[in-house]
Formats: sequence, C-alpha cells, structure tokens
Amino acid sequence: MNNLIFVWHRRDLRVRDNRALAEAINTGRTVVPIFVFDPHFWESNSYCPDRLIFLLESLQDLAEHYRKLGTELVFWEGKAVRELTKLSKEYGALVYFNRDTNGEYGMNRDDVAENLGFVGWDNDAIQRDGRTKDWSDQARAFFEMEIPELPNTISGHQIRSITTPEAVKTKYQVTSEKDSPEQGGSTQAHQRLEEFLAEIQSYTKSISKPLAAETGTSRLSAHFSLGTISVREVYQATQTIEAKQKSFFTTRLFWNQHFTQKLQDNPTLDRIAANPVFEQNYDLIYQPDQEKFQAWCQGKTGYPLVDASMRALVSIGFLNFRMRAMCASFLTYILKQPWQWGADFMFYHLIDADRAINYSQWQMQSGMVGVHPNRIYNPTTNLQKHDPQGEYVCKYVSELHDASLEFIMSDPESRQDTLFRDTYIKPIVSYVSEMRSAREIYKDLNTKAFHRVQTDPELRAHLSLSGAAGRRTRKKQLPDTKEV
Ligand SMILES: Cc1cc2nc3c(=O)[nH]c(=O)nc-3n(C[C@H](O)[C@H](O)[C@H](O)COP(=O)(O)OP(=O)(O)OC[C@H]3O[C@@H](n4cnc5c(N)ncnc54)[C@H](O)[C@@H]3O)c2cc1C
Repeated sequence: MNNLIFVWHRRDLRVRDNRALAEAINTGRTVVPIFVFDPHFWESNSYCPDRLIFLLESLQDLAEHYRKLGTELVFWEGKAVRELTKLSKEYGALVYFNRDTNGEYGMNRDDVAENLGFVGWDNDAIQRDGRTKDWSDQARAFFEMEIPELPNTISGHQIRSITTPEAVKTKYQVTSEKDSPEQGGSTQAHQRLEEFLAEIQSYTKSISKPLAAETGTSRLSAHFSLGTISVREVYQATQTIEAKQKSFFTTRLFWNQHFTQKLQDNPTLDRIAANPVFEQNYDLIYQPDQEKFQAWCQGKTGYPLVDASMRALVSIGFLNFRMRAMCASFLTYILKQPWQWGADFMFYHLIDADRAINYSQWQMQSGMVGVHPNRIYNPTTNLQKHDPQGEYVCKYVSELHDASLEFIMSDPESRQDTLFRDTYIKPIVSYVSEMRSAREIYKDLNTKAFHRVQTDPELRAHLSLSGAAGRRTRKKQLPDTKEV
C-alpha cells in the first residue's frame, strides 16, 4: 500500500471545511483519515464524562460521514505522534493535520509533529507566526473565504482500526453523570444551526436570561470546541438569512477566534495571571479556603442565583455567559478564592470546555489582566432582573420550590421568612462588605497593573488586546470597578 496520506483528526471532527482533508484529497494520494486515542488525554481527568461522551458521539458521526464518502475513519490508540510516525514509516505515507491552539501540551505536540515532517495547515483565523496589526481584517477575510466543495466519494484504503469509540468508553469507564441534552457530531451541529437560524430573532432577548438561554442561544459552543462544525460555516450560513441584529451573533463568532488568538499568544494563560502585578500579589488578593470553595462548587453559598447556576453547571454542563461571569466574579471578588480553582472546576464540568475561551474569560472576569473594568456581579439584582419569577432558581435549588417569590428575591443578608430561613442556607459571606473590600484591594493593584501594560511592549503583545481594551490602553484610560 503505497501512496497513502494520513489525515490526523483532533479538534476538527468534520469533513466539510476541513483544510487538511481537502489538501490531502488534492494530492491524488489515497486518503486515510485517522483519530488517535491518546492516553495523556483520557487519563488526564480534566474533562467530565459527559464531555467525553460528546466527543465519542462526534467520532461516531465522523466515521459515518466518511462511510458515506466511501472510506473508513481509522481508530488508533497510543501517543499520537509516536504512533503516526510508525505508521507513516511503515506505509511510506505523509501525515496532514490542521494546526490547533489548545494549550501548551497540544501546541508543543504540533511543533514536534511538524519537525518530524508532518504537514500542518491553518484552518482558522489564528495568526501563528507573530501577530500583525490588522487582526480583525484578516479574520474577516478568513470568515468570508469560499469553502471548497468536497468530492462525492473518496477512494477506500486497507488499514484496519485497532480500537473503537465503544471500546475506549468501556476501557476508561466513561459513564454519563449529567442530564445534558447535547449530542455530539456534525449532523447534530448542522441540525442545531438550522433550528437556531429559524429563531434567531429571539437571540438578543435570551442571551442574558439563564433559563431562556438554555434553548435560546445557538448552543453551538460544544460543537465549536471539537470542530464538528466550523465557525466559518456558521458565519456564512448566518449571512444567507435576513435577520435584524444578526451581527450581535456573528460578532461572537469573531470573539471565539479572538480568544483562541489570546491563548496562541500566551500559552500559559490557563495557569498564570496574564498581568505579573496580580501574579506577584496573589496573597493580597486571595485567602484560599477549601470550605468556601466547596460551598461555591456545590451551590451552597446562600445566594440563590449563584447556587442555581453552580448546580446547573454540575447537572447539565451548561451556563449562559452572564451566569458564568457572575459565578467567576462571586468566587474571586466576593469569596476571595483563587481564579484557577474556579476555572479548572468550570472547565471540567462544561460540555463546551474550550481552553482558550474558558481560561481567558476567567482571567478577565476576575480582574487578572489590568486593562478591563472590574465587573462585580451583584447576585441579587441579577436575579431580580434576569430571573424575575424565580423559575431558574427553583429548577435547580430544590429547597426553594415552596418558598415565596418575595423570599427568593429578597436580599439574602436581610431575609425575613423564618420558615425558609431555616430550610435554605444562610449567606456564607456578606456580599456588600466583600464587594467593598474587593474594590479596595484592586484600587492600587489596577493602577500598577495598567502602568505595567503601558510600559511593557512584550506584555502588551501577550495580551492580544483589541476592541475596547485596546482603545483604553492606547488612550491611557485606567479601568474602573463597576458593580453590574
Ligand atoms: C468564565 C467564563 C467561562 C467560559 N468558558 C467557555 C468555554 O469553556 N467554552 C466556550 O465555548 N465558551 C465559554 N465562555 C463564553 C460563553 O459563555 C459561551 O461561549 C456561550 O455561553 C456558549 O453558548 P452558545 O454557544 O449558545 O453561545 P452563543 O451566544 O450562541 O454564541 C455563539 C458562539 O460565539 C462564541 N462566544 C459567545 N460568547 C463568547 C464570549 N463571551 N467569549 C468568547 N466567545 C464567545 C462561542 O463560540 C459561542 O458558541 C465562557 C464565558 C465565561 C464568562
């Protein structure tokens, strides 16, 4: 079997808009699509079982797409680069893959692969050879570039899989623990896209409401995180419909890529504070306390919207943007617990866990960058505004099922109803006094951190600033602290 070319799938679990696959087909060689189950990933315990199930479903769907094209997706097991090196030597084959930005381990692995002669292709808007100033223009050009059509068939090959998704599921004892409605695979992603575009008019109304967002935002994030559909396909499909305010949605598709660029420019942002001023003042900002952290994880803080959101995260693996931001703000500014603890916990439970977006957002939401305003979310006013009938809270906090709306909406620090005061947890801290002390802590640190960004070009490059943060930095406007 000569003249083979392996297409190594990782977080690009689709056949459409897949550059490595298209380039491999163009060589005229026999294409062998392959996925390698790497023990590093399966033993890492970084992802919840339901996220792994989403991945396995996506692989089964990918295999089905290849079957329809007349070929087989090969399932392999072992250290991916080592296994593919052996296979490519054995068959005299080339290896193509799409470059990925998924943290230090993955990025180093890609470098090693390219040094060994594997061919990496860019299939996203990420600039990997040093950034130019016109990131947004280049990203737009990428989003608008025509997507080449795939041939109807691809010629088959003789290489047999050594494992299957089912076998891997059994081997690593992957058992569902959540009540997640999300199902992996390109077929599901395209179906969801169609449903969402039909109801996109209500997107802006749903986005901040925790209950409405469970069905009213695109819910494509888990698909993007494994590439069962590309952000470019979604962008282009959105351009074909007439809808007021659709740019509200497409802007977020650019954010997806912009946050990925941040990880590309700063591969340690999943562990180290982006601005050294905060990293050096850790002891001033945080008072690590396992009891408080566990209360947050379990949704037992005594603040109904925080508790409902944390229980929803564990129960269904999804939260809308506002609730993710509010929970991050509550853990770090109000409970004074380290941002990395919360970021790892959320990353583990999210079905859409995306290293770049999750960790960059945690850094921003907990004030670790020094160029964004500190946004301290008030859990009571957010509840009154975004869940005014307490439906979301009652869905996830069973102790509050029979409580009066007045009790649920009241300020936890001055609750009146004696019956429910005993049933539901008392607030573990005072929001108001902790919010005030957070403001004090950040006042001086923010000034120092902002000065550091102004005077350190290397740091500025690491931060991949654009939009409002970029403008604020250029105009030297010190970020303020806001209660939101
Ligand atoms: C602390 C925190 C952690 C987060 N962790 C993740 C994560 O691990 N994975 C993840 O995909 N998103 C994450 N987000 C961003 C956002 O909350 C989710 O992308 C969104 O809620 C997913 O739902 P959706 O697909 O229905 O979004 P939609 O509103 O339909 O948006 C479409 C897509 O745009 C992108 N997007 C939307 N909002 C943002 C944003 N604020 N920043 C970057 N990209 C965005 C996502 O790819 C999303 O799928 C996080 C936000 C915060 C505050």
